[in-house]
Amino acid sequence: MKNLMMPVLIIAPLTVGALWLLTGGKSETAAALTGPKTVGMQFIAPMDCSDPLACVVQNHVDMKAGPGISDPACGGRTYDEHQGVDFRILDLPTMLRGVPVLATADGEVIGIRDGEYDGAWLAKGREAIGDRDCGNGIALKHADGYVTQLCHLRRGSVTVKQGDMVEQGQQIASVGMSGRAEFPHVHVSIRKDDARIDPFTGRSIGGEAACGTDEGSLWAGTVPDHWQPDAGPFIFKSGFTSAPVTMAIIERAPADPAADAPALVFYARAVALKKGDIEKIELTGPEGFEPMGSIGEPLDRDKAQIMRFVGRPANGKPLPAGEYHGRYQIERNGEPVLDISRYYVIE
Ligand SMILES: [Zn+2]
Repeated sequence: MKNLMMPVLIIAPLTVGALWLLTGGKSETAAALTGPKTVGMQFIAPMDCSDPLACVVQNHVDMKAGPGISDPACGGRTYDEHQGVDFRILDLPTMLRGVPVLATADGEVIGIRDGEYDGAWLAKGREAIGDRDCGNGIALKHADGYVTQLCHLRRGSVTVKQGDMVEQGQQIASVGMSGRAEFPHVHVSIRKDDARIDPFTGRSIGGEAACGTDEGSLWAGTVPDHWQPDAGPFIFKSGFTSAPVTMAIIERAPADPAADAPALVFYARAVALKKGDIEKIELTGPEGFEPMGSIGEPLDRDKAQIMRFVGRPANGKPLPAGEYHGRYQIERNGEPVLDISRYYVIE
């Protein structure tokens, strides 16, 4: 990052933790995967994901067998050996308010697990979750040899039991982050006759024609644009707080800054960035507050998610009263593709 206007006193590093970075991603993408459905089953998302401000697809399946990655559109919105689709919600406070998990299609409950703690992976890692990467989960058997597995459900939220028949759209649990989960989401994996299928393309994961081809979406109805592997970028949470942030802090609810805060920080978490994207973040305020900001180097790879912040310590003095403006922008191939502003008033 290089200075944009004034000395930058607090700047997030360009990396956001190895677990959030993608490796080996390609920047080219295939055409949007909106082909007609050609198979019998039709699935819905495991939660209401119609609003990109409330829910996004964080990771797609890795279509590529062996090392290296490829999402269904030949891009980098996945990670190695990821065999499902991650539908994520905004943050932990949203999870704690309760977000319904829905049956993806009519079927029979053929497996459940509950009792695993949300956040155990972040707190204690492998020791805490053992081989239970899925955490609390539900497996549903549908017609035509299809099975859905739903993972990372909230502890104590599973409302069905083995042998129950469920209807598409029925609430069967709540979104959580049990098992190997770093953020609240539902991992959906769909199998047909034991082959894992990408629901966007209907293709087997790890097959020969790994990406960019389409045998027909398994999703019911029109797939929202923001679910597509080549969609984005999106801003998926931004705001002001009083100290430097981490990705984990953004997942929680950073406290609003008051006039006597030790610092003023503007943060933004964006989803679905591409190799070559250039980010810019700025914070300006009323008279007496020195504006600051920075411009990033072009990204060296696709990133499923990224976090930036910019801020200034108050140095023991009250923050000047008035309106502050945080702005985060992404430029792609010389064109602005995302430009968000947030405002905050210190009384
Ligand atoms: Zn997943």
